[in-house]
Amino acid sequence: MKALCILGSTGSIGVSTLDVVRRFPERFKVRSLTGNRNAAKLAEQVREFKPARVAVADEAAAAEFKAALGGWKGEILAGPKAVVELAEEPESNYVVSAIVGAAGLLPTLAALQKGKQVGIANKEPLVMCGPLMRKAADESGATILPIDSEHCAVFQSARAGEPKELKKIVLTASGGPFRTTPAEKLRTATKADALKHPTWNMGAKITIDSATLMNKALEIIEAHFLFDLPYEQIEVWVHPQSIVHALVEFSDGSVVGQLGLPDMRLPIQYALTWPERLDGGLPPLTIERMRELTFEEPDHERFPSLNFAYEAGRKGGTAPAVLNAANEEAVRLFLEDRIPFVRIFELVGEALRAHDVQPLDGLETVLAADRWARERVRRQVE
Ligand code: NAD
Ligand code: MG
Repeated sequence: MKALCILGSTGSIGVSTLDVVRRFPERFKVRSLTGNRNAAKLAEQVREFKPARVAVADEAAAAEFKAALGGWKGEILAGPKAVVELAEEPESNYVVSAIVGAAGLLPTLAALQKGKQVGIANKEPLVMCGPLMRKAADESGATILPIDSEHCAVFQSARAGEPKELKKIVLTASGGPFRTTPAEKLRTATKADALKHPTWNMGAKITIDSATLMNKALEIIEAHFLFDLPYEQIEVWVHPQSIVHALVEFSDGSVVGQLGLPDMRLPIQYALTWPERLDGGLPPLTIERMRELTFEEPDHERFPSLNFAYEAGRKGGTAPAVLNAANEEAVRLFLEDRIPFVRIFELVGEALRAHDVQPLDGLETVLAADRWARERVRRQVE
């Protein structure tokens, strides 16, 4: 029986995770849940899954949660330290990391330090400090299971050969809502346009990242750290149907890929039940969805994000953390209607260029680089 701690249970990945859990009551029990401010959603989840402990953003959210769930006997905690406490307590042996952004770093790292199995959807911490997370896992014996669909696809496909036989990987990208939008129209793209994702239904931040291709940029760095691959061996192909999630090419020229509907429950289920495959009754891939599968090169002129990733990745050290933080801050400003869409690229590119890269010698260095980039972006805009 796996005892789960689900970090970010009220978000898109969190809700999909609980749907997988619901399909296997004999395999999983929910030990703890964490949410930020959506007290009503969390209360509904607690009623159904009966965890022993939950954590929310602060005392106000805790009060709201208590009001929504009168008479609950479990324990409610508040604040970022409480989230870390739930991630590391020994009563759970599997942690699902599904908070969005850098906020997930400390609890995910804590779970890795405790030697747990950790299913990681929350890619930003891996981008910020993949080597520190890998080191924590190596030292404690923790297992990292990728939930991000492309990385889960690489993880599955790579099992067809030996690591030394792997020649390159291809991550696919839907291309987002602006795949065919001309450059001059991108200048006037609105928040509503950017939030209309053609194939996936996700949280707001990653949806904007898909529109800028920054999501794929982060995923290049995520893949580099997860699979220990040089950047020359990581490619991106735009594939608007989102059926082929990734391809792995081996030294003999054979290419092995993983296909499936664009439904995060599939990679989540694989990460939860690994190394087994179980029938969770998810909708199957049908011939209708396979009739047209197309692939095209990404447009680096309109979407410079992938080049930022290769640049930051090759610089190494604190550069990926700066890329991530500048982007998080720029996306926040875009979602608050304070900057136009294309300003996101400028702010991220400028932060990367201005940053004095430091070696990744510890968490404090990463957090300092993260703060520096956020402050810089805020100052540029004010
Ligand atoms: P979301 O916005 O829908 O959910 C985020 C969750 O994190 C919510 O439960 C929210 O309450 C919580 N949260 C937000 N800020 C927090 C904070 N400061 N402290 C504590 N908790 C906080 O996001 P999502 O789309 O589910 O994405 C989650 C992560 O998974 C992201 O890193 C994203 O890149 C990654 N991911 C998502 C998808 C997807 O299909 N949604 C696919 C692949 C990877
Ligand atoms: Mg992905």
